[in-house]
Amino acid sequence: MSPGLRSRPLELDGSVVIVGAGLGGLRSAEALRAGGFRGTITMLGAEHHLPYDRPPLTKQLLAGAWDEPRVQLASADKLATLGVALELGVAASALDAATTTVRLEDGRDLRADAVVLATGAAPRWLPGTEGMRGVHVVRTIEDSTALRDELDGLGGAGTVVVIGAGFIGSEVASTARAKGLDVTVLEALDVPLGPVVGDVVGTWVTELHRREGIEVRAGVAVGRVHPRTAATAPSVELASGELVPADVVVIGIGVRSTTEWLEGSGLTIADGVVCDESLFAADSIVAVGDLARFRWHNALGTEDVRIEHWEVTAQLAAHAAASLLAGSADAAPVSLVPYFWSDQHGRKIQMLGRPIPADEVLHVAGSVEEAKFTVVYHREGRVAGVLGVASPRHVMLCRPLVEAGAALADATALFSSP
Ligand code: FAD
Repeated sequence: MSPGLRSRPLELDGSVVIVGAGLGGLRSAEALRAGGFRGTITMLGAEHHLPYDRPPLTKQLLAGAWDEPRVQLASADKLATLGVALELGVAASALDAATTTVRLEDGRDLRADAVVLATGAAPRWLPGTEGMRGVHVVRTIEDSTALRDELDGLGGAGTVVVIGAGFIGSEVASTARAKGLDVTVLEALDVPLGPVVGDVVGTWVTELHRREGIEVRAGVAVGRVHPRTAATAPSVELASGELVPADVVVIGIGVRSTTEWLEGSGLTIADGVVCDESLFAADSIVAVGDLARFRWHNALGTEDVRIEHWEVTAQLAAHAAASLLAGSADAAPVSLVPYFWSDQHGRKIQMLGRPIPADEVLHVAGSVEEAKFTVVYHREGRVAGVLGVASPRHVMLCRPLVEAGAALADATALFSSP
């Protein structure tokens, strides 16, 4: 229990407002019902869509392999059956944490016994680029379909410049390349993804892009972006003054958690909503998903983390609902092994754990040449994570080792046995 928190267990016939109708919001509602909550659940969503899945936005939906209905996570009927009163196209504009009251942008106030904060994150734009013609980010269905239509409009011949070689940028690059387009990725870091997967693996993943014909330019700073005009295509100007021509520009330089509406709420905001180990941000207020910065006890120590992964969001939502129902005195600390996947060039990249840049990397199977490999991250002789490219069995075999922070020798033994 966090010092100072006195959340009583949520009455089973009480009331909850969930702010955010994405994965975290939906899973929170489901978990409250599964936990026996019979009271009213109101879910607010700033977008006009029923809860939908974001991973396909840079993959199947962008590729054109899926249509929009397929990314929906729950139908209106399902939400009605769950007893969720859904208000779409209505953003919350403020929260009074002391009275658990949510103010809506249309001026209404909703007071509830508990509030779940699930407003996720929003993409960062480069200064002056928001709304520029021919320049895109990908976070929503509209973002994905607008980009898809522009890419398809190139008819298989054109150049896409992706700014940022993180997972979102890399997936867009991969999907655009599969449409037959020329793709250049501009990355400020010397080693793309280095801070996330380490320099060794970052170099290998970059190599996979290059082998697919993508030009990856690492260690370059972008100066500014020039929009499409009636006479010219968009282009990217590097800090060096060099102009990189494009037909379409995509910005994938990360996100910021959606906390603006919580200013003045009384909550602590620090790159996310600061929560305790059970996801309480204040009495009767929990945060989940991309928004939540929580205290995470793991086999190798304790960290304050905000994790933008699909599976972690689903796990946090289930946990937050359980915390509300238990009350702060009896709520359990979050216990999870972070899992992330990405699909690029027809291969699945999977990571378990949360390696830090200082971790060492042990290459245990496969090779870049095969475009299939597995590495184990270790810290002071203990397993901190695993990453596999096209190696799902290896990754899952390592799960217990990552969870336990097992001795590195256990991982070595696993991969040396016939
Ligand atoms: P969101 O999904 O962002 O939902 C938050 C919702 O709250 C949004 O609908 C937003 O409109 C709404 N909202 C915001 N402000 C307000 C307000 N004031 N009032 C009311 N509503 C509001 N993870 C993986 O592990 N693997 C992947 O391959 C992967 N691919 C991804 C691809 C893309 C393009 C993106 C964007 C994410 C991807 N992720 C992936 C991450 C994963 O989708 C997120 O971790 C997950 O969506 C987070 O869920 P959430 O509910 O916290 O936030």
